[in-house]
Amino acid sequence: MTKCPDCGSAVMRHQACSICGKYKGKVIINLEAKTVKKTKAKKSEKKAE
Ligand SMILES: [Zn+2]
Repeated sequence: MTKCPDCGSAVMRHQACSICGKYKGKVIINLEAKTVKKTKAKKSEKKAE
């Protein structure tokens, strides 16, 4: 285990951080895409009202 230099969470070596999605300073997992999906879901809920 090693520490993520970005958020300080314990991360498996040679794997992207599951918290911030970064590995060696680069964003490997696009966490923003998940946020966009959540935002869209909220919008659709408003339409249902
Ligand atoms: Zn991190």
